[in-house]
Amino acid sequence: KRRQQPSAEELISGILSGNRTVLSRAITLIESTNPEHTEKANEVIKGCLPNANKSIRIGITGVPGVGKSTFIEAFGTFLTELGKKVAVLAVDPSSTISHGSILGDKTRMENLVKNENAFIRPSASGENLGGVARKTRETIILCEAAGFDTIIIETVGVGQSETAVHSMVDFFLLLKISGAGDELQGIKRGIMEMADAIVINKADGDNIYKANQAKAEFNRALHLFPPKKSNWLPKATTCSAITKEGISDVWNSILDYFEMTKETGFFQQKRNEQNQFWMIETINEQLKQNFYNQPEIISLLEQNKKAVQNNEISPFAAAQLLLNKYKKSL
Ligand code: GDP
Repeated sequence: KRRQQPSAEELISGILSGNRTVLSRAITLIESTNPEHTEKANEVIKGCLPNANKSIRIGITGVPGVGKSTFIEAFGTFLTELGKKVAVLAVDPSSTISHGSILGDKTRMENLVKNENAFIRPSASGENLGGVARKTRETIILCEAAGFDTIIIETVGVGQSETAVHSMVDFFLLLKISGAGDELQGIKRGIMEMADAIVINKADGDNIYKANQAKAEFNRALHLFPPKKSNWLPKATTCSAITKEGISDVWNSILDYFEMTKETGFFQQKRNEQNQFWMIETINEQLKQNFYNQPEIISLLEQNKKAVQNNEISPFAAAQLLLNKYKKSL
C-alpha cells in the first residue's frame, strides 16, 4: 500500500515551521521528473515565496581535493555558532545517477550533518545543467522559507556549473590551494572574474609560506582585472579548514560585501537581474523540452537527421521544417 502523500498545504506549513524532514520531502517533490508532481511542486514554491529572500547566498567553487567539504564543514559550523541557520546545497550536473553525487554529500560533513541548525542536501540528479540548476534555485526558496538564513551552494570547478551557481548567489567564493609556484596557470579567467573572494585553503604547517606567496600572487592578478559592476574589490586570503585559521576572516569579508552592496543598491539589483535571468532560463528549458519530447517531432527529427546526412536537405532547411511543424502543433 502506498504511503499517503502530504498535501501541498501540509508541506508548506511544515516548511514554514522549520521541519527539516518535511523540507527534504518537499525538495524531493521539486526534483521529481514525474509531470504529475509539477503542479504540487509549484504550489509549494508559491506558498514559500513570501517567506523567501531573507538570506545570504554564498557560492563556493574549487577543483576536487581543494577542500570544499572540509571548508564548508568548518565554515558552516562557525556560522551556526554565531546563531545562523545554514543550508548547504550543491550543483553537480555530472551526477546523472540518483544519489551518485560527490558534492554536498552528508558523509563528507560529519559534524555539520548532526547540527540542528544545518541542513545538507546533495545535488539534484539530472543530465543537463539547466535542469539541475533550476531545481537548486527552487530549493533555495524552500530553504529560506524554512528559516535558513545562510545558503551555501557548492559546485565543482568543471564546465559551466560555476556560471550557473554564480547566477543564483550574492557572493561567489573561489577556493584554491597553493601549487608549484605558478598559481595562475590553469585557472580559467572567467572564474577569476566571477569571484568575490579567493581563499587559499590548506594554509597550515609547512604550507603556510607557499600559501602566503600564492595569496600575494592572486592579489596582484586581481588588481589587473577591470572593476566589478558592484565596485567591490575582491581579495585573496588564506585559511585552513583544519586549524580554522582564517575562517572568521572569510565571514568578515562577506559581511563587508553585504554592507557595501546593500548601501549602493547593487545587492537588490543583482537579485532582480538574477530573477529575470531565471525566468528566461526556465522558459528556454521548457521550450526545448516540449519540442524534443513531442512524438511527432521525435520521428521527424530522426527522418531529417538521415536526410541531412544524405545531403537531401540542408541542416537549416531541416531545422526550419521541424520548427514549422512544432509551431503548427501549438
Ligand atoms: P573537496 O574535494 O574540494 O571537497 O575536498 P575535501 O574537503 O574532501 O578535502 C580533500 C583533502 O584535503 C582531504 O584529505 C582533507 O582532509 C584535506 N584538507 C582539506 N582542507 C584542508 C586544510 O585546510 N588543511 C590541510 N592540511 N588539509 C586539508
